[in-house]
Amino acid sequence: MTKKIIKGRLFTLACLIMALPSSGQGLVSTYEKSNHLETSTYEEGMAFFHALAEKHPEVQLIEEGPTDSGYPLNVVLISRSKNFDIQQLKNEGKAVFLINNAIHAGEPDGVEASQMLARDLLENKKMSRLLDNTVIAIIPFYNIGGVLNRNSGSRVNQNGPKEYGFRGNARNFDLNRDFIKTDTRNARSFSELFQKLDPDLFVDTHVSNGADYQYVATTIATQNDKLGGPLADYMKKEMLPFHYEFMKEAGTEMTPYVNIWGMSTPDMDYSEFIDLPRYSSGYAALFNTIGFISETHMLKTFEQRVEATYNYLLGLITFTNTNGKEIINLRNETKRQIAEQKEFVVSWKLNDKECDSILFKGYEAERPVSEITGQVRLKYDRARPYEKKIAYYNHYDPDVTVSRPDYYVVPKGQWPVIERLKWNNIEMEVVKEAREITVEVYHIVSFKTQEQPFEGHYMHYDVEVEARKELVQLEPGDLLVPVNQWRNRYIVETLEPQASDSFFNWNFFDTILQRKEGFSAYVFEDLALEILEQHPEIKEALEVKKKEDIEFAQNGYAQLMFIYEHSNHNEKAYMRYPIYRYLKQ
Ligand SMILES: [Zn+2]
Repeated sequence: MTKKIIKGRLFTLACLIMALPSSGQGLVSTYEKSNHLETSTYEEGMAFFHALAEKHPEVQLIEEGPTDSGYPLNVVLISRSKNFDIQQLKNEGKAVFLINNAIHAGEPDGVEASQMLARDLLENKKMSRLLDNTVIAIIPFYNIGGVLNRNSGSRVNQNGPKEYGFRGNARNFDLNRDFIKTDTRNARSFSELFQKLDPDLFVDTHVSNGADYQYVATTIATQNDKLGGPLADYMKKEMLPFHYEFMKEAGTEMTPYVNIWGMSTPDMDYSEFIDLPRYSSGYAALFNTIGFISETHMLKTFEQRVEATYNYLLGLITFTNTNGKEIINLRNETKRQIAEQKEFVVSWKLNDKECDSILFKGYEAERPVSEITGQVRLKYDRARPYEKKIAYYNHYDPDVTVSRPDYYVVPKGQWPVIERLKWNNIEMEVVKEAREITVEVYHIVSFKTQEQPFEGHYMHYDVEVEARKELVQLEPGDLLVPVNQWRNRYIVETLEPQASDSFFNWNFFDTILQRKEGFSAYVFEDLALEILEQHPEIKEALEVKKKEDIEFAQNGYAQLMFIYEHSNHNEKAYMRYPIYRYLKQ
């Protein structure tokens, strides 16, 4: 399909959308009934989709596991052939498009856009063509607990709707940080759904905070270098240009997500957001799914934002329906490559030299003195719009790269890790008989820990490890995770401690970071003397260290600890990462 043909379709569709008398389309949403001022409650939104499913056999509602709210995770499937067997649909070559809404329940633009879009795709003959090659799955409300917790104040800077939900879920977790650690039932059910659908395209809908500018819509496309391979190329060269053009033609021009905070303004240049695996689109990238995040601007009206989100979703569905086969082929090719890939980048750093130049439509900023604080404040002047070329830093370089082992060994006691691997459909081999094998064991040399709690955790970072060859005993029931799967990225980026969102960094193994036993110095003193007599090599190492390190030479307890650590009394589990790397030869 050439770009020209795609464009032709684009114009027709954009005109079509503008002309849609949405209230004349049968089912009417809360948003439409309220003159675009209100968003649906959980009950109203679900009633809308139930009514849609009753009217149209192309719609099926399913419940995918529990959420922390006590309500199930609801999913709306739209399949023109009325077949809802995902595997069969995939075998027929249908592309699967997953839309997630209300992960931040105070940002309900996608909740409303999805209701109208689902209805219009079914009831508008011309639009229904978009279902020819695409199956659509919509999560009407992901953070149901947050949606039920309605208020009118928590989105302090947001211009409507009248009432909305709260960002935290039923247990006050931010679900858009939970995709790896999976503290919530929401995230667990999402993982299971995601693996069943294995979507070709994924969108998570949001409303943005931060700087002021002219655009209603901004977009996060999953970070290109991090997505990598032929898919990244395709996204950059084909998909994004189409999407930007579609949004412009539809009257809702968009710009890359404005990653600007505090006193900075967009004309000071900005950098691309890196969507780590903890975020929805970063999680999707681990499974070679092209992920997008729509971010409408908080200061625009609810009506403007819902319209922009509607166009955003429509643009991507339009592209997918026309180019689904190519996306599927590229994904299959990527899956093959990932299964054979030997090296994996597990941490990225911004390249502060390479940038793209983009034409940005902003507002001039002033920095007057605050009437309240007497300090300089930031103020945008909407009477002074501008168009300026700005530098957009959108390249990331590998920071930490690891080579894959043939297998990771996960002892059966590490059930929180095993559960997560299962929820993500990772293939594992169960050890049948006890045997000894030589593996690579990481010893944690150093790490840093955040001082403030973050999403129920004190996260680690800057982890240094030393790999040692050790003989370990495999027990029946232990698990071997072969690293030859198309889901390799999930395996490596959770199990390698140095990965940005590793299970190690998310505190799954904090019990190894403290000693469980110890010694009483006055008792150990005599034993230590015997150890030194029996082990001249320890004695020599002690003398060397005393000469090199004056503080050590003056610290009796540190010297006893040194002997203890070098003796066979030393606690083996301390700082020893309990997931091993098995390299066959
Ligand atoms: Zn958000």
